[in-house]
Amino acid sequence: MEILAGILNFFLFLFIFNIMFSLVSFALNIYRNRETAKKLESEIKAKVAANNQEHEVQEMVIDEVCGAELPKDKAYILTQENGTKKYFCSWECRQRYIQDNLLQEKMLPQ
Ligand SMILES: [Zn+2]
Repeated sequence: MEILAGILNFFLFLFIFNIMFSLVSFALNIYRNRETAKKLESEIKAKVAANNQEHEVQEMVIDEVCGAELPKDKAYILTQENGTKKYFCSWECRQRYIQDNLLQEKMLPQ
C-alpha cells in the first residue's frame, strides 16, 4: 500500500511540477513578446523619422523650360553629352528642351 501511495505521490508531484513549468514559460513568453514588440515599435519609429527627414532635405531642381521647381526624384532627367544633367517637370518639357536646343535624344528618363 505504501508503495502505491509513493507512486501516486510521485505522479502528483510530476503533474504539479508540469503545471508550474507551463505557467512560468507562459509568463516568460508574454514578457519576451512584449519586449520584442517594444523593440520593433521603436525601430519603426526611427525609420519613419529618418524617412521624413530625408524628404525634408530633398534637393529641389528647376525646370528650365517652364520654370517649375520640383523635387529631384520626381524630375525627368536629360543627361547631356558633356555629362551635365537637366531636370524637367514633365516629359513634354523635356521634349521641348531637346527640340529647342536641337539635341539628339540618347538618354531615357529616370
Ligand atoms: Zn515643366
